[in-house]
Amino acid sequence: LTSRLPQVGTTIFSVMSALATQTGAVNLGQGFPDFDCDERLIDAVTKAMREGHNQYPPMPGVPALRQAMAAKMQALYGLPCDPDTDITVTAGATQAILTAILAVVHPGDEVIVLEPCYDSYVPNIELAGGKVVRVPLVPGSFRPDFDAIAAAITPRTRALIINSPHNPSGQVWSADDMRRLDEMLAPTDVLLISDEVYEHMVFDGQAHQSAARHPGLAARAFIISSFGKTYHVTGWKVGTVVAPAPLTAEFRKVHQFNVFTVNTPMQHALAAYMADPAPYFQLAAFYQRKRDLFRDGLAQTRFRLLPGQGTYFQCVGIENLAVAERDLSEADFCQWLTREIGVAAIPLSAFYGNGFDQKVVRFCFAKKDETLKAALERLARL
Ligand code: PMP
Ligand code: GLN
Repeated sequence: LTSRLPQVGTTIFSVMSALATQTGAVNLGQGFPDFDCDERLIDAVTKAMREGHNQYPPMPGVPALRQAMAAKMQALYGLPCDPDTDITVTAGATQAILTAILAVVHPGDEVIVLEPCYDSYVPNIELAGGKVVRVPLVPGSFRPDFDAIAAAITPRTRALIINSPHNPSGQVWSADDMRRLDEMLAPTDVLLISDEVYEHMVFDGQAHQSAARHPGLAARAFIISSFGKTYHVTGWKVGTVVAPAPLTAEFRKVHQFNVFTVNTPMQHALAAYMADPAPYFQLAAFYQRKRDLFRDGLAQTRFRLLPGQGTYFQCVGIENLAVAERDLSEADFCQWLTREIGVAAIPLSAFYGNGFDQKVVRFCFAKKDETLKAALERLARL
């Protein structure tokens, strides 16, 4: 059998979580909360099940959830969208990204990714027969390099994938960045896939700069969200894609033969829960406090803190640790840290096609304070 994805093994997130379980390490690797969601959300799922919402919903998703999402896009980002033609409910952001790519990328089309990037983008483009064009974010700051992006655009460019707030760096794009992108793409037919799963985790009083805020971008974009991140339910695997009607029509052609539709009771529960916008307005403060607790602790160690303005990830340089003498790769360091120190982390090299190793690793701070404190105690020994 000839592999469709010869370069691909098991994702680093699965590998590190398995190792953390096996060794009993504190798992700050894979991004997911170690605390539960709001009980009202669980009650709402049970209620939906008891009310008989247990069969297929409509292919694009439960109407009430699409309506709630349309109301949110208007209220938060000023984007008018029609729940019938512009919004589809997906099995998490992961499926939304793959389906968007399969829907618009023809074999040989170029798709630009900004490295480091989330690990599913490149294999998704390859599965569609697209050509991956990698443009680095500015080393160190992880800011977009607009000249480099502009230089990468050719007549074969079908799409550009962006991700702000950014996994793994936690950097966010400013309003000015989005305006520059809008101007750059204006004379082109390049589509935008905007992965906004961390939209409600932007810190220090900044506002999330959704592509939805910029009509020129919104007109060419698949805007991707995930309830898993926003409501602490990563295991539910429910997300949405917002896109103009012609793009949504193509998206749904693939979606209907990919998953057809997404679990019904969760959609009803999410629709009911969205009636109260407080949870997503409170999320930034909730995670900013955890970020600060974790950063304050790390500041007492020999890890070098990198800036982070969003997401629930914190990146650190490892070059000042005593163990750096051994010149371990990021991946070997993460293995060592998990096995010997009892804290799991993710190597940044996993987000680069060429395995670029800058001696930086990522921790997830979506954890109970006691978990973060236990991890910090162990990290302070280094
Ligand atoms: N994009 C990014 C940047 C992510 O970090 C994640 C979650 N790890 C996803 C997409 C996938 O989200 P979901 O769990 O909703 O599929
Ligand atoms: N997005 C999560 C992370 O970056 C992991 C999701 C997954 O395991 N695929 O850690």
